[in-house]
Amino acid sequence: HAKRSGRGRVVVYTREMEEAAKRVTRIEQALRRAVSAGEVEPHFQPIVDLTTRRTIGFETLARWTDRDLGMVPPSVFIPIAEERGIIGPLSQLVLRKATEAARSWPSDLFLSFNLSPSQLVDQNTGLHILAILDRTGFDPRRLEIEITETGLMNDPASAEKIVEDLRRVGIRVSLDDFGTGQSSLGRLREFHFDKLKIDRAFVSSILDDRPSEHIIRAILAMCEGLGMDVVAEGIEEEAQADRLVQFGCAGGQGYLFGRPVDADATLGYLRDSYRGALRAKAI
Ligand code: C2E
Ligand code: MG
Ligand code: MG
Ligand code: MG
Repeated sequence: HAKRSGRGRVVVYTREMEEAAKRVTRIEQALRRAVSAGEVEPHFQPIVDLTTRRTIGFETLARWTDRDLGMVPPSVFIPIAEERGIIGPLSQLVLRKATEAARSWPSDLFLSFNLSPSQLVDQNTGLHILAILDRTGFDPRRLEIEITETGLMNDPASAEKIVEDLRRVGIRVSLDDFGTGQSSLGRLREFHFDKLKIDRAFVSSILDDRPSEHIIRAILAMCEGLGMDVVAEGIEEEAQADRLVQFGCAGGQGYLFGRPVDADATLGYLRDSYRGALRAKAI
């Protein structure tokens, strides 16, 4: 089919586009069903103190396996959930399960949770989060929300109000994927973040390109000046971790320390590492 759009441009709808649209609709329907059935699960990836390698918290990452579609990655289903208005209920389901699981972890560990841009224009978001914490009895001071700069752009005033409401009960706020997308240093003047997460793109090239190294060092200096904690994302190799420690980066996350795993495996991981800690003390 061909369709005439503005200024006489002709847009051709190819067969592939039709197929893609059908696939999105299919995923949307399956996702709606999965969310009502409570089938989206939180996985948890450790965030560590880079110098001691001690786990200081976990990031919650949503996982979904559909009977017919198989494992659908968040990079596919999160954008569809946002576009089709499913992100609210999906997010509430995952946060409820995540805080229920994290309740039995050692109380000095924090839990972080991602919020999508569309959730920061919806004033109900804050109320929903507070209601879930109330119900699961999870201490809000152990919760961190991760937002991206894109999330602040649509409606900064609305985002600011939601963030202020969450801050009031002790929830911390981190800026995710820093350095990619619509980065603006101005945002860091207007908005106070407790933590900044350096995007994986810089970390993965820290060993082989000078610009990445300089950018990371500049970000670290800025975080120090602004009193923000910092976590480098996507650390896969020892040499990357070493270099980051050399530059004074305090926090790290990545496959080197642990992949995201489900609630049961996370408990097992915690038992092992605490047993290790006890053994180290005994020596
Ligand atoms: P993100 O918040 O930046 O999460 C980090 C992503 O990097 C995760 O991908 C994680 O599995 C991956 N990662 C961690 N360490 C490494 C590493 O060493 N190497 C590589 N190559 N990747 C690493 P994942 O789980 O596929 O999630 C992708 C994105 O989907 C997240 O990016 C986040 O923006 C979004 N997302 C995931 N769960 C949720 C959720 O519950 N709600 C919302 N709103 N967004 C979510
Ligand atoms: Mg994140
Ligand atoms: Mg990130
Ligand atoms: Mg990311």
